[in-house]
Amino acid sequence: TLAAEPSLQPDGLAGAWRFYDAQVPLVERLVVENVVDAADHGALVLNHARAIAFLREGDRIGGARVHDAIGARDLEIRARFTVNATGPWLDETIAPLRRTKQRLLRLTKGIHLVTRRATEHAHVLFAKSDGRLFFVLPWLDATIVGTTDTDYVGDPADAAADEDDVRYLQAEARHAFPKAPFEEIHFTWAGVRALVREEGVAEGEVSRKHALFDHERREGIAGVISVVGGKITAYRAIAEEVVDAVSGKLERRGRSTTAEQPLPGARAGDFAARERELSLEPASLAHLKRVYGGRARELLDLAAADRSLAQPLCPHHHGVAAEVVHAVKTEWAMTLGDVLLRRNALGLSACQGLDCVDRVADQMGPLLAWDADRRRKEIEAYRHEVEPMRRFSTE
Ligand SMILES: Cc1cc2nc3c(=O)[nH]c(=O)nc-3n(C[C@H](O)[C@H](O)[C@H](O)COP(=O)(O)OP(=O)(O)OC[C@H]3O[C@@H](n4cnc5c(N)ncnc54)[C@H](O)[C@@H]3O)c2cc1C
Repeated sequence: TLAAEPSLQPDGLAGAWRFYDAQVPLVERLVVENVVDAADHGALVLNHARAIAFLREGDRIGGARVHDAIGARDLEIRARFTVNATGPWLDETIAPLRRTKQRLLRLTKGIHLVTRRATEHAHVLFAKSDGRLFFVLPWLDATIVGTTDTDYVGDPADAAADEDDVRYLQAEARHAFPKAPFEEIHFTWAGVRALVREEGVAEGEVSRKHALFDHERREGIAGVISVVGGKITAYRAIAEEVVDAVSGKLERRGRSTTAEQPLPGARAGDFAARERELSLEPASLAHLKRVYGGRARELLDLAAADRSLAQPLCPHHHGVAAEVVHAVKTEWAMTLGDVLLRRNALGLSACQGLDCVDRVADQMGPLLAWDADRRRKEIEAYRHEVEPMRRFSTE
C-alpha cells in the first residue's frame, strides 16, 4: 500500500482495498455538451435567462416569462409543456403553482477544497470525528478534498465554504496523509444538494434518489412537470424518464435513443491535417482534445483561419485564445465567468484566470460589442464571481 501511495500515514496501516470508479473532471463541459446537442436537435438556447413567472391560463401552464439579464428585458416563451429542472431552487420556482407550502426538498451544502496535488491515487476515507465518508481525489493538476454535508437554508447561489468546513476537511484528510499539502489551497467550491425531503435522518443519510412531481396529478395544474432531486451521474436516465412522461402527456409515441447516441464531443474528430499545419504545443493540443473531444477540430479550424488564436492565454495553463472565440460564437458564453469557469476550464486552475482576465476581456469585448465601461464592469463581475471561491486561497 505504501509503495502505491507513499504519503499515507504508516502508523496502524494494515492494508487497503482497491476500488474502481469513474470521474467526470469537468461537469460544466458535460452540461455544455448536452446543450450543444440539444441545439443541434433544434432547441432554442437562452443563457442568463431566468424564468420569473409561469404563463398561466386557468389551471394550465403555457410557458414562462423570462428575464434576459444581459439584454435587460423580459420575454414570454410559450410552450406546449414546461419542465421545471431548477435543482435546489425548485421550491422557490414552483411556489406559485403549489396548493400547500410543504417543501419538496431538503437542501444540504457540500464543499470541496482544491489543493496542490497531494496524492497519487483516489482515496475514499472515513472521517475520524464523525465517521462520514469523504474523498481525496486527483483532479486535473490538483487534488480535491471533500465533501461536507450540512443542512442549508438560504439562496443556493450564496453557498460558500466557511472556516469550519475547511478546517474539518483539512484535519480529516491529514489523519490519513499527515504530510500532504492540504494547507496549500488553490480555491474552494461550494454547492447545494437538492435532496428529496426526508425528516428525522442525518444529512448524510438522506437518500440521493430523484422523483418527478406531476403537478396535474398532484395538484390539478396541467402542462408542467418538475424534477425533484437527482444526481448528475444519473442525469441521462432521469432526462429520459422526463421526456417519456412529457411524451405521454402530449400523446406522442416514440422511443428515446439518447442511451445509444454519443454527445457531440464524443464523436471522432479528424485532427491530423490541422495538427501538422498549426504545430501547436503538444500540451495545448492535449488540452484541447481532453476538454472538447472530437470538437477540438472546431478550435483548430479557428486557429488555422487566424494564427493569433493559436497563442496561449495564460502562462499557467495550456488553453489557447481560440477557445474564447469558440465559447462566445458556438457555446453561448456571455460573460468572463461563462468562458473561464464554464467553458475552457482556465478558471479552474490555481490562478483562476485572474492573471489573464484582461486579455480574455480584450478578446471577448469586440465579439460582444463591449465598450470600455462594459469591459471594466465585466472584469469586476468576474472578480466578484470567484471571490467566494478564493476566501481560503493561499496563493
Ligand atoms: C458538493 C457536491 C458534490 C456533489 N457530488 C456529486 C457526485 O459526485 N456525483 C453526482 O452524481 N452528483 C453530485 N452532486 C450532485 C449534482 O451536483 C446534482 O445532482 C446536479 O447538479 C443536479 O443537476 P440539476 O440540473 O438538477 O440541478 P443544478 O445543477 O442545480 O441546476 C439547476 C439550474 O437551474 C437554474 N435555475 C434556477 N432557478 C431558475 C430560474 N428561475 N430560471 C432559470 N433557471 C433557473 C440554476 O441557475 C441552475 O443552473 C454533488 C453536489 C454537491 C453540492
